[in-house]
Amino acid sequence: MLTSVAEAPRRQRSAYRNFRATVARVERLSPTFVNVTFTGDDLGDFGTAGLDQRVKVVLPLDGHGFASFPDGEDWYTAWRELPAELRNPFRTYTVRAVRPELREVDIVFAGHGDAGPASAWAGRAKPGDEIVLIGPDEFGPGRRLGIDWRPGEVDTLLLAGDETATPAICAILESLPADATGAAFLEVPEAGDRLAVRAPQGVEVRWLSRASADDDGHPSAAHGELLAPAVRDWVVRHLADLGVTRAAGDESAAALAAAERADLPDTPLWDVPAGQSLDGACYAWLAGEASVITGLRRFLVREAGLDRRQVAFMGYWRRGRAELE
Ligand SMILES: Cc1cc2nc3c(=O)[nH]c(=O)nc-3n(C[C@H](O)[C@H](O)[C@H](O)COP(=O)(O)OP(=O)(O)OC[C@H]3O[C@@H](n4cnc5c(N)ncnc54)[C@H](O)[C@@H]3O)c2cc1C
Repeated sequence: MLTSVAEAPRRQRSAYRNFRATVARVERLSPTFVNVTFTGDDLGDFGTAGLDQRVKVVLPLDGHGFASFPDGEDWYTAWRELPAELRNPFRTYTVRAVRPELREVDIVFAGHGDAGPASAWAGRAKPGDEIVLIGPDEFGPGRRLGIDWRPGEVDTLLLAGDETATPAICAILESLPADATGAAFLEVPEAGDRLAVRAPQGVEVRWLSRASADDDGHPSAAHGELLAPAVRDWVVRHLADLGVTRAAGDESAAALAAAERADLPDTPLWDVPAGQSLDGACYAWLAGEASVITGLRRFLVREAGLDRRQVAFMGYWRRGRAELE
């Protein structure tokens, strides 16, 4: 059973833990995006590092809520030992905003109908609904857990992603210094999904809508069909700014090919440089549907010649497959 840790001495807390919360507000931002604001006494201690901070959203079981969901640091082991019908589903999301003084956390869900439990839940969320978030404790050790944006001191930034990466890209853009330069490409289902976001003047923000202007609003292009050529075109036009050295690119492409041979169907497609210093060069952050993002990384490393360590690459979801729990 869940017990609050709000009273626990701060030194005894884990870095990443359960937070019980309820829905305070639901705001439809656009045809695809809905912002759900969670509240709870415990959320005053929720981690505030921002950027692409990922969390798990644990969803209620019909008629059973969270009665079986295990608390404690080793919740995952205990969860796996439960009978399948008592295991709450959970999915990964990005924290869009944290307001500790109000004990609030915002998560922006990209709806895709009732195909998955998270999208279905978000489509019906209403004030008072209960939820469990598994996320960072501001006062626990290791506050950077779950953040993959690590650009170092680079001159040019490149961000690219689909609707699932849009909350992270928006949070990252809003965190950048005023003199940052580069580009962000966001591929979304509909023209009305262009969200308001603050970005430095030197960072070009391009929204790409898969719905054509004259149709009935349903996406007419496939995932990645607009993102891939737009990124390619930008990269080709900016090669001189990207610090590409062909030698580094060749070596890096060989490492990439080896890593791709090791990719198994169930392996998450995820490769984030662990903070190596390539200061001065470009940093690319790519997230979204796995095959689209794989193609983009392959282009950047094999064709454009970026060093693999300049490219953070994250398959946020896979077409035709539910998120692995
Ligand atoms: C680090 C990280 C951060 C993320 N942040 C966000 C976020 O802030 N907002 C957000 O909306 N998503 C985010 N995602 C993506 C989200 O976790 C997945 O889309 C997830 O699969 C949704 O769960 P579900 O229960 O709706 O669908 P699942 O049960 O996982 O999948 C059911 C079916 O739906 C398909 N599917 C999953 N997502 C989509 C989609 N977006 N469009 C079309 N089909 C889909 C699957 O391929 C599968 O066939 C993030 C993922 C990661 C790894």
